Order: sequence, then C-alpha cells, then structure tokens
Amino acid sequence: MTEMCRMILDVDTGIDDALALFYAVRHPAISLEAATTTYGNIDTDTATTNTLKILELLGAANVPVSKGVDRAFIKPFHGGAKHVHGNNGIGDVDLPAPRAGVTGEHASDTIIRLAKEHPGELTLCPVGPITNVALALAKAPEIARLFRKVVIMGSAIAVPGVHGLPSPNADPNWFNDPEAAHIVLTSGADITLVGLDVTMPTLLTTAMMDKVTQTGDHAARTLMQITRFYVDAYETMYPGIGGCGLHDPLAVAIAQDPSLATMERHHVAIELHGELTRGNTVADRRSTARHLHNADVCVDADRPRFLSEFMRLLTES
Ligand code: CA
Repeated sequence: MTEMCRMILDVDTGIDDALALFYAVRHPAISLEAATTTYGNIDTDTATTNTLKILELLGAANVPVSKGVDRAFIKPFHGGAKHVHGNNGIGDVDLPAPRAGVTGEHASDTIIRLAKEHPGELTLCPVGPITNVALALAKAPEIARLFRKVVIMGSAIAVPGVHGLPSPNADPNWFNDPEAAHIVLTSGADITLVGLDVTMPTLLTTAMMDKVTQTGDHAARTLMQITRFYVDAYETMYPGIGGCGLHDPLAVAIAQDPSLATMERHHVAIELHGELTRGNTVADRRSTARHLHNADVCVDADRPRFLSEFMRLLTES
C-alpha cells in the first residue's frame, strides 16, 4: 500500500495554486493537513479568500487555513501578477463566498505547531514566496529537522527565468523574497527543489483542458474555467505555447512521489546582492562542493506519468 503523504501546503492562490490544492485534495495518497497563505500572485487577503473558496469547491472546507505574511522581509508587496492570474487571482471567475473562515493562528505559527506535534511525519510544500516558512524557521529554528521533507516550488538553475522579472534568471517565488529563500536554504531542512527547470516544460494543454471540460465533475470544470485566463496569459507571454505551466501541482506531485523526478544533489544558494542577478539561484555543481550539499534539485521530470495522473484526477471523480 502506498504510504500516505501528510502535507502542509503554503499557497499564494493563484491559478496554479488552485490546481495544486486540487491535486492535494483529490490524490488518494495525500492527506492535506493544513493550508497556509501568503502574498505573491495576489495580496494575502485575496489569496486567503481564494484558498477557502477553492477548498470549498473541492468539498474540503474542513482543511484548516491559516493566513500568513502579507509582504517580503525587506520590501513591500509589489501588487501581484494580475495579468497572469486575473484581478481576483483566480481568473476573474466568481466563486461563492466561503462559509469557512481562517483559523486565527498565524501561518508561521501553524507551521511551527504542526512540525512539533508530528515530528518527522509532515511534508511542507511551499508553492509561493517562501516568507511564511522563513519566518517560522526564524522563530523556531529547531523545526528545520522536524519535517519529513520540505519540497519547494522555487529556483531556476539551467533555464531562463520567467517573462516580466527584472532579474533574467530568477523564478518569481524566490525573486519575491530572496532573503526568505536564503533563510530556508541554510536552515538544515531536508530540501527538494522543484524549480522552473522542470515545471516550465510541464504543460496543461488546451486539448487536455477541453477533455476535462467534457468529462470532469463540477469542481474540475470550474478549475478549467479559471485556468483559461492563465492559458491566455501564457499565450501572450509565450506565443504558440498552447498551454500553461503546471508549476505548483508538479511540486505537490513530486512531494508525494519523488520518483516522478530525476534529482541531483547540489549546494544551492540564492544571489542577494547582484544588480542584475538578485534572486537568481546559484547551484554549485562542482564535485568538490559535495560537503556543502543542501538540496535535492529536480533536473528532469517524468512528464507523461505526472500528466496522466493529473488528468486521471481531473476526469475521474
Ligand atoms: Ca504559487
């Protein structure tokens, strides 16, 4: 029997975050124990409301949601990526106001409490700017080794960064708060990086979306409605791409099943000072750096297997 992956998902919901919540809720080998929210794609208040709405859409309103930070450590919130995720962060689709509310506990405190209550059992999966996790580690550094794994959607090692960032080789999550990424990378946690190297080429195509729209349940069809905005944004940024990057869902999938990825172990750091390179991931791939290794870096993914699993969840309810 497959072992259950007990997960805390830190989200800036966000369209691909919504798809990641879907994957975590619907996958039979994942138990979503809590969602924590942050800024990034949209402001934290909206990301929190969106998280509650999506969980309710998925019939998972029982998952506790804790609201977290609303900005990076040393810079104010930049306003998000409404051109990619819509003015409301979920493709300008109106979902019913959520009936459930937040826990009242700060996201960083939820992360600390759950780590201490379940040592060695939980996988922490941050798929937004990583400030909540860094804050938790700053408050309680001892939790670094209490997670089974910390599987992060962040980094860009051998691929160009995304459209629109002033730093040409950075991923948006870490670019939003490089200091937070530095704190997490140097924490001693068991880190897996699911970066743009593997997420950018993992596409949900319009043909796949059409299939879900024809055969999926209400939640899956609604998610496709939301995702339409994201696909249109991708088409504007990358003409001819014919789909959207499944960044956050791939991170959740690899957290549950690491065999979906090919990994290399490296010392990974983040550039904090460069005028042109702030937020860039720097992986030391020299064999002499072995004693410094701090992260398993996904360098390739079994895309067909992940996509067929994701499609199965989207079309078989
Ligand atoms: Ca995200």
